[in-house]
Amino acid sequence: MLLSIGIDDTDSYTGGCPTYVAYRIVKNIKNSYNILPKDYPHLVRLNPNVPYKTKGNGAVKLVYELSELQKEEIIQKIVETVKENSYLDYEETDPAIALCFNNVGEELYKFYLKALTTLVTEELAIDLAEKSKVEVISLKKDSKKGVIGALAALGATFLDDYTYELLIYRVKENFGKKRRIDSESVREMDAATYPFTFNNYDYERKRVLITPHGPDPVLAGIRGEDPRTLLKAAGYLKIEERIEGWMIFITNQGTDAHFTYLQGKNLENSLKPFNVIKIYGKVSSMPIILPGGHVKFEVETNSKSVEVICFKESGKLNNIVRKLRNGDEVLVSGGTREFYNKVCINLEKLEILKLVELKKTRAPICPNCNVRCKKKGKRQGYECEKCGFRCKEPEIVIEKRELSPGVYLPDSASMRHLAKPLQRYGLQKHKKKFPLIEGWLR
Ligand SMILES: [Zn+2]
Repeated sequence: MLLSIGIDDTDSYTGGCPTYVAYRIVKNIKNSYNILPKDYPHLVRLNPNVPYKTKGNGAVKLVYELSELQKEEIIQKIVETVKENSYLDYEETDPAIALCFNNVGEELYKFYLKALTTLVTEELAIDLAEKSKVEVISLKKDSKKGVIGALAALGATFLDDYTYELLIYRVKENFGKKRRIDSESVREMDAATYPFTFNNYDYERKRVLITPHGPDPVLAGIRGEDPRTLLKAAGYLKIEERIEGWMIFITNQGTDAHFTYLQGKNLENSLKPFNVIKIYGKVSSMPIILPGGHVKFEVETNSKSVEVICFKESGKLNNIVRKLRNGDEVLVSGGTREFYNKVCINLEKLEILKLVELKKTRAPICPNCNVRCKKKGKRQGYECEKCGFRCKEPEIVIEKRELSPGVYLPDSASMRHLAKPLQRYGLQKHKKKFPLIEGWLR
């Protein structure tokens, strides 16, 4: 029989990580029963705009082929492992496990898309679990928030595009301590595996991007196109601390899945806080620089004006937005949020489709003397002060735009997990997924 397991909300701001729980489960089941999952564990990123997420709003899914005899015992083991590795004392943590005993159907897939792009309620999740005969185990009685992510993870099937991440875990005594990876080796790895790994190093800010900063068990995560490249990349790293092991996940990170599968395309429906949104329109106001360096501009779409905010932290993107002008045609993607009591779009991706020609007028040059004429009074045209040459029409100058059409993203350090980096354009996968390879689990 096929058993799919979705797990969410085991982490907290103080530690823990759903991928580590998945790692412990896979290791325990392998050690006790010598059974491996059918596919790479799924690391499923959901709507990055929801207010109650912990770090990256990530959930995990595991799929096993089991015999009826093993079923109960293995489920028991999974629940124990989740309990052991969840931060249950932390008030905001509501771990949940969703178990599906047959093929994951269309309804669960649709729920995944919903949780990827909107704010879904616990009630909806619980209803669907009942209808789909999914067994839900909540580790806390009073709240069932984790059910949303656990169920969405179950439904997550990466159809059009996906990437992989190799996550390296620390030994317990190092949790919370400074991560010891030689940064030079990260740059070497990046150079050797480009463009098939991404977001390894921020060359402008000279910062390693593969290491998180919290007290969680993850030492580093290498993101890339396929498992083999990730193993090769890991070989370049000079790790200067003891590690527990690693595991490769298949994931929707770096795919723009949230924009691709946008639900509720109706603007009125999407313009509530915490949704994913993508709109086409024309810039209808000059960008305004707000205190703190954030930039605000408006986009008009279907004769409705929508405010867009680009935060200072977006780096390069923030500089680009400042150069937009009235009439530029753009596609704006991001999340909705309340800013100064108004729902606006927090810009995550800007596509400039067409730039307007900016025209300026100035006094013409006198054809006789080759000097610039002087403007006479209102509607009286221009006159050359030297020879008295007169003309009515000004010279029209087309201003050079310091901007070109294209896709613009924030600096990699402030990019969302789901955001597709520029180097991945053209690398989208539509083919069959990679089988488990030697060394994917250590
Ligand atoms: Zn003249």
